[in-house]
Amino acid sequence: MSLIQIQSLNKWYGDFHVLKNISENVQKGEVLVICGPSGSGKSTFIRCINRLEDFQQGTILIEGKDIKAPDVNINKLRSEIGIVFQQFNLYPHLTVLKNVTLAPIKVRNITRDEAEATALTLLERVGIHDQALKYPVELSGGQQQRVAIARALAMKPKIMLFDEPTSALDPEMINEVLSVMKDLARDGMTMLCVTHEMGFAREVADRVVFMDGGEVIEQGPPDVFFTNPKHQRTQAFLKEIL
Ligand code: ADP
Ligand code: MG
Repeated sequence: MSLIQIQSLNKWYGDFHVLKNISENVQKGEVLVICGPSGSGKSTFIRCINRLEDFQQGTILIEGKDIKAPDVNINKLRSEIGIVFQQFNLYPHLTVLKNVTLAPIKVRNITRDEAEATALTLLERVGIHDQALKYPVELSGGQQQRVAIARALAMKPKIMLFDEPTSALDPEMINEVLSVMKDLARDGMTMLCVTHEMGFAREVADRVVFMDGGEVIEQGPPDVFFTNPKHQRTQAFLKEIL
């Protein structure tokens, strides 16, 4: 059974059909890169997976369980499906350490000592354990984004969603974030990454998914996707960004 099963997902904003009949299965440990023009529905799509967005038609199953079933605990679901946004979204009034320990203490009911030990290990893993007592404003964008990744990982998620995590960064900071994401991918994390970092896609994606106008137009392993795109819209998009 696939870890994520998405069946005929359709979503509208009012009259606007934003997601059109998307069906995807994602295996445990698989890394998907989702690309496509601005406004094609990439963010809306991945946000449906942890119910940051509602949808009107179709089903999403995680480990076979319908995320819209009445007995689903939405906080638990969101703790199992971490998300990292373009704009970091750290709590500005909390230290790095507190940003990472807040949710585990509140939602996962673990002690402060345990949460801090885990947080320091994770901060070490993303290369910023020496920044634990600083506030977000004192960090660079790349460091803040690495805190955001550590914060999501602190919930021990089964799935990580990334929504253009490097788009707001200065160029010299992009690689430090991509390198953390690559480590995570090699460690076996199941990841759906909206990104236009095609080097990253070539290196770690199992599949590249191209969206346009709310539809999945084409998808395939990176070597096929980049060298032999079939659809004219994919070819045009790749020509723009490569
Ligand atoms: P992408 O991430 O690919 O740039 P989005 O998923 O953000 O695309 O948006 C897809 C389309 O849905 C865009 O046309 C956008 O303007 C529209 N949209 C996004 N959020 C809303 C909303 N809350 N209400 C109405 N339209 C929205
Ligand atoms: Mg987006």
